[in-house]
Order: sequence, then C-alpha cells, then structure tokens
Amino acid sequence: MTPATSLPRAKSPRAVAFTPARWAQSVVRLLPAVAVLSTFAFLARGRFRALSSLEWADGGVVLVLVLGLAMATARRVRRSMLHVPVSLRDELELGGTSLAVAFVVVGLSGEVLFPVVYLLMAFLVSFLSRTAGATLLGMAVLFDAVLTLPDRWGTFLARLVFVALFAALYHLVLSARLAAARTAEADAVKKRLEEVEERARTFRLVSSGTHDSMPGVKDHEKWLLASVKEIEGATGSALEVAEVALKAHTVGAFLLASDDRSLKLHDCRSASEHVQRERFAAGEGIFGALLKRGVPVRMNGQGGLKGVTHYEPGGPTVRALVAVPILEGTGLVRGVLVADRIENHPFTEEDEKLLSTIAGEVLRAIEVERVMGYIRRSRDEKDRFFRAIEELNRAGQPEQVFLAVLESARQVAQLDFCAVTLVNEVNGARQHRIVRMSGVTSAGRALEGQSFPDNNGLVANVVRYGAPLPGRDVGAMDRQIIFDDDTQIRGLQSLKIFPLVAGNRILGTLVSGSRKKAAFDDDELRMLEVIAIQAAQAVLRAQLFEQMERMATTDGLTGLLNHRTFQTRFDEAMATAKRYGRKVSVVLTDVDHFKSVNDTYGHPTGDQVLKGVARILKETARDTDVVARYGGEEFCLVMPETDMKGAHVIAERIRDRVMKEVFQTEQGPLKVTLSLGVATFPEHGDQKQTLIDLADQCLYFAKRHGRNQSVTVDKLQSQKTG
Ligand code: GH3
Ligand code: MG
Ligand code: MG
Repeated sequence: MTPATSLPRAKSPRAVAFTPARWAQSVVRLLPAVAVLSTFAFLARGRFRALSSLEWADGGVVLVLVLGLAMATARRVRRSMLHVPVSLRDELELGGTSLAVAFVVVGLSGEVLFPVVYLLMAFLVSFLSRTAGATLLGMAVLFDAVLTLPDRWGTFLARLVFVALFAALYHLVLSARLAAARTAEADAVKKRLEEVEERARTFRLVSSGTHDSMPGVKDHEKWLLASVKEIEGATGSALEVAEVALKAHTVGAFLLASDDRSLKLHDCRSASEHVQRERFAAGEGIFGALLKRGVPVRMNGQGGLKGVTHYEPGGPTVRALVAVPILEGTGLVRGVLVADRIENHPFTEEDEKLLSTIAGEVLRAIEVERVMGYIRRSRDEKDRFFRAIEELNRAGQPEQVFLAVLESARQVAQLDFCAVTLVNEVNGARQHRIVRMSGVTSAGRALEGQSFPDNNGLVANVVRYGAPLPGRDVGAMDRQIIFDDDTQIRGLQSLKIFPLVAGNRILGTLVSGSRKKAAFDDDELRMLEVIAIQAAQAVLRAQLFEQMERMATTDGLTGLLNHRTFQTRFDEAMATAKRYGRKVSVVLTDVDHFKSVNDTYGHPTGDQVLKGVARILKETARDTDVVARYGGEEFCLVMPETDMKGAHVIAERIRDRVMKEVFQTEQGPLKVTLSLGVATFPEHGDQKQTLIDLADQCLYFAKRHGRNQSVTVDKLQSQKTG
C-alpha cells in the first residue's frame, strides 16, 4: 500500500541489489536518450542528408534510434494499460525519439518532408504535458537549427514560426474539445445528482403537506406512492452515479451499527458477488483508520491492497480504493462510502471529491428513507386509529361496544392482554366487573363476567383517581394487582390502565398489557388514551340506549315486562308454537281484594305488595316464560312449550307461594292471595285474544268461586256444562 500521491515504486531501499541484470536494465533504460543524442550529433556533423550517402555508422545510429523508439513506445503502452500515471521522462523519451526519427526522415528526404515535423509537433504538444511539449518544441528547434544554420536563417525562422503556430493551434483546438467532453461528463453527473435531489425535495414537499384529508386523495396517494418508490431508490441512484463516474468495480455504502462497533452494508453497486453482506468489525483495516480519523482515504498498490474488509473471503484483489466517511452535519460519522477498482488505476483527488458529494447524497437518502418509514408507519397507524374510532362510534349495544373497544385497542398497539371493566354502585359500595377481555391470564381462564369489590388494585385506583396507571416502568409487574388478589395476570412487562371517563363520570377502565418491555411508545399511549375516551362515550351511549330500551319494554314499578311487550312476546310465542305444532299456555292473575289493601294501608304499601307478588311470579316462572304486568294489580305469564296441565301446576305453585308469603311493609307484615285463570293453545283457541279472553273468564270464575284459586278453561267448561 502506498499513498496515491507517490507512484508505486518497485525499489524500496532494501530491494536495491547490484546484480549484473540490474546493471543491464539500467543501461537499456538509457537507450532512448542515447539514441536521441547520437542522432542529434550525427545530424550536426552533416549526416543523414541523403539516402545515397548513408554509411555503416549511420545505420548503427538508426538501429539504436529505432530500438529506443520501440522501447519508449512499449513503456508508454504498458503504463497506460496498468493505469499508471505517465512521468515526464516517459513523455520526453517517446517524444524525443519520435522527433529524432522525424528529423532523420526529413534529412534523408532532402527536407522535402519537413511538414512531418509540423504534424508531429502539433500532435506531441496536444497530447503530452505542457512541460514535455515545451521541451520537445525546444528540441525540434535545435534539430532544425543543425539542419539550416548558419546558412539559411530565413528558412530556420520561417519553420520556427510554423512549428510554433501549428503546435499552438492544434493544442488549442484539441484541448477545447477535450474540455468540452470533460464538461459534458461532469454535467451528466451533476444532472443526475440534481435529479436525485429534486426527487427527495418533491418527496419532502408531499410528505410534509397536510392534504391527507382533502378530496381527491386517491390520485394524491398514487402520486405519493410513486414518489416514495423513487425516493426509496435514491441511495441506489447515488451509488449508480458513483459507479459510472468513477468507473469503479464496487461502490458501497456501509453504515455503522448503533454501538459503532460494526459496519453493515446498506446498499452497493458491484461487479463482484463477494461484497460483504454480513456485519463486520468497524475498527479494522482501512475503514477502521478512516472511521477513527473521520477523513477520506485514497490508496493503491500493484500487488493488491491490504486491510480491505468489505469483501467476503474469495473476493477480488483491490488495487485502488477511495473511501469517504458518511458524515452528518454535526460531524457524527454514520458510515463509509467506498469505491474500488481491481486495476491499479489510482483514484484522483477529483474522484475523492465526487465520492464525498455522493456520500452526502447517500446520507440524505438514508434520512429520507427513515422519515418516510416513519411517515408511512404513522399513516398506517392513523388509518387504523380512525377506523377503530369509527368502529367504536358505530357500536350501539354494550356487547358490541366492549368488543369494539378491545378491537380498537389491539389495532393501535401490540397487546397481549386487554380488558374492559365497568364500575357501579351496589348498596353504596363500588363494585367492579370485567365485562370483556382478550388475551390469556396466567391461570389460562377467562375473567369475563367476574366482579370484585373496591380494593387497592390498579383498576380500582384508576377509577378512584380518574388517571392512567401505572407509570411506564412496570418493574415488579408480577406483584402488581390489576383486578384483585384472585385474578393475577402474570408475565406482563408493560401495562397501562386508562379510566373510561365520560363527562364527570368514570364508568370503568381499559386495561392494556404487553409481554414486551416498554412496549408502548408515546404515540400508542396517546391513541390508547383517545380510544379510552371514545370507549367511555360509547359505553355511556350504550348504557343509555339499554336503559331507554328497558324503560320502553318494562314496567317501572315491578321491573316486569309491560303490557305492550307482553302482547308482542305472546304474538311471537304463538307464531313459534303454530309453526312447530307446539303448545303455549297463558295465565292471568289478579290480587284478591286489593282495593282494601290500598284502602287500609295506603297506596305505597299496596305498591310494595305488588312488587313482592311480581318477584314471586318471576322467581316461580321459568327463564323462557314471559312474565308481565298486565295492568293494575293484574299480571300475566306466557309459557311456551307448556300444556294446560303443566301451566296449571305452575299457576298453583305461584298461588301457593303468594298465599304463604308474608310481605314486610312499613305498615307491618301483610298477606294477600291470588286468583288465576289458565288457557292453552291450541286446544282452547288459535288466536291470542281468544286465549286471553278465555283466561280472563277463568279468572273471573275463580273470583266468583271464592278467590285464591286457579281455574283452567277445561274446568271452566266442565263447570258450565256441569
Ligand atoms: P277483586 O280483584 O278480588 O275482585 O277485588 P279488588 O279489590 O282487587 O278489585 P280490583 O281487582 O278491581 O281492584 C283493582 C284495584 O287495584 C284498584 C286499585 O286501587 C288497585 N291498584 C291498581 N293498580 C295499582 C297500583 O299500581 N298500585 C296500587 N297500590 N294499587 C293499585
Ligand atoms: Mg283487578
Ligand atoms: Mg283484584
């Protein structure tokens, strides 16, 4: 490895050895110079003036000259093949031997072919360095002088002017063309860089806009997506520019890991399959030195560079390399951008500058990708969030609401455990109930429907203080009580319980938990909080809805179904019985001498008794039976799948219980009796009203025959006929 500024030298001090081969080599190396000098000397002595006058000595000089030219040419060709910069000596050797040959030809031709010198000079001045050109021009003048002076000053001066003019013109034209070509190439690179930059700018404009909720979002999104795709390829484009402009074998961007210890390939353009794709140590080799100092590195070496770490074993032999740090504005090193060649063709300072520019481009692209990833993620998050809120707002019934709350919460955050609890007052004491949960508890059992009294657990405290709990750190989570002692949830590393606040009421909590540590970021916590607020509104709405529905269908005093609901339920029961050929019975009841209860103890006491009777009816009837307040102190039961006998049994059971019940009122204990009438479909009629009327007739019959009894239609009819 040698720095690019000094050319690779075969000779290091230790390598010098005075062997005969080395002596011979040194002599041979002098051949071009010897050839030029001897040609000059011969021309000065008047030789090479005509083909006819050639002597053996002349032939020897020509031979040496041809050999010298051949050697200089071979050397030049070899150097250019190895991409080794050409030295002044090389240029002078090649130019000098060519000029000497030209003057030999001019001399032998009797100076007829002098224009050959014009052409050759123009050519040499244009293609060789300025120093070499000027030196060779001087040499041509000297050669010409020995041909013309001292006799032909006019010819000498005229030729001098022509040679200089020719060379200058040619040099001007050619260098202008070369400059134009170089500018075109630089322009192409610049344009591509600008394009990349423009796309990034476009992207930022689009992404920073707030047109998301505007109409025509579809087109806008399509456009955005297209830009996003472009931007995502920005690093690639920048590397492509570098690859083409630097004619590199590999151009690669390697980024430092967060601990700065390792580098990882971010993107590359390479003719090799062996670019290191795995993480590798950042502190080693060429990159290690670069990262330590934070400055570019340029190197080349004929035998292959040491300390190249960006290829896997078996990778190519790198002979030239330029690497620049990917630097943030703050001076922080983010990684390395490297370009290499397998030919020993050193990178120039210009190349290094270009790579530095591209490193800036790569950094920008990385930043853009990061921001874009974030925007896209948060766009998705927002989408999901709004969908969740919508879902919540659509839910009408409590069950739907609870389900929607869990769904919503899980949409915005990765939850392993989620639950909704409600709180209500039972006899002046708070009672919490887990109405819905998802995720598994440590015991593997569902907690849905479980109630627990007010305690010192987290849920109870969230309800108590109306603020989310706990703080972000849930170090001793296993010992935290979320609900109560009986319902331990183990294994949660992150937990947040939000109160369900609606107005000034706290309806319950939303419990969100994850097995991951610090699972919820600020955005997610905010979204969960909003979901909790929306959930509280939805729960309140559902509860009101439920209450309204209850009020519309039930009787305020007894809590039994009201008359209207009794009618519809009876219709439904009749329809089902008719469709499936089943029986259905109806029982009408009326409290005996109830007027006197009211009269004696007052209406409120009468109400208390009615409540008691209603309770007995509800308790005695089956779950599938419809129990309703028919009106006043009259109740009715619709009993699906029940024949007359069965209905009579139940009617009797009710009558018996009411008769035996001692109603505790403010006026002291009280006892009442019931009269009941029973009718059954289909035997007593196939219309609802017919059956109700028949049951009413039975009831009336019971009243007339001593009260405190139940009468079936069969009994009524047998009594009538009997
Ligand atoms: P019987 O049925 O045995 O023939 O005699 P009764 O005294 O019960 O007569 P009836 O069934 O006609 O009495 C209806 C009474 O029930 C009239 C009214 O004072 C009373 N009543 C109706 N609705 C209510 C109510 O909501 N609360 C109270 N306390 N009393 C009611
Ligand atoms: Mg009555
Ligand atoms: Mg009555």
